[in-house]
Amino acid sequence: MAAVATRSTTTAAPSGFRRRHRSANLRVAEWSDGLVLSGVAGRYHQTRSAPQQLSWQAAVAGAAAGARWDEILEHAYGGAGFSVVGEADAGECQPLASAENWLAGRQAVWKRRLAGVAGFEAPAPLPRVCRLDHGNPYADIERRRIYASGIGSANERLTVAHEYLHFALANHPRGRDEDFVEQTARSLLGTP
Ligand SMILES: [Zn+2]
Repeated sequence: MAAVATRSTTTAAPSGFRRRHRSANLRVAEWSDGLVLSGVAGRYHQTRSAPQQLSWQAAVAGAAAGARWDEILEHAYGGAGFSVVGEADAGECQPLASAENWLAGRQAVWKRRLAGVAGFEAPAPLPRVCRLDHGNPYADIERRRIYASGIGSANERLTVAHEYLHFALANHPRGRDEDFVEQTARSLLGTP
């Protein structure tokens, strides 16, 4: 899965509203900047709340009233799994050395296997592999990081290979096609 961070909007609120809630607005913007929703097509709207739609005004009002971001999101998106990229990134990346070493070793082999694939480009340097404590593994292309839980099981190794391919196939016409990426990862690891 590739991370899709939703971005805060900068559409103007009525000026009185903006002045009164400026600090709350800032807080909402801060936390929404690195927000990742998984398992839901989350949307924003400036003023209207709807199923799977976060009202910006309601979020600002909630923040002004002291609600935590996760309470606001839960209210807007129900059971969606969500996490905050900024929170994970604000802390140091906790490198998974075993996974990084494994990936470096495998890449030597994969390079030869993928040499003929149009658009394949071995990422150099390799992305960091950072410890993921909860949520779904993902590739943070911008920060050149893979968030994963380890390489202890076949499934975890498949995950790291999958996320690696999001980097290596970034210029491939199907590099964002999850089925294609997963299929390629499985063939690299000989997993049916
Ligand atoms: Zn993916």
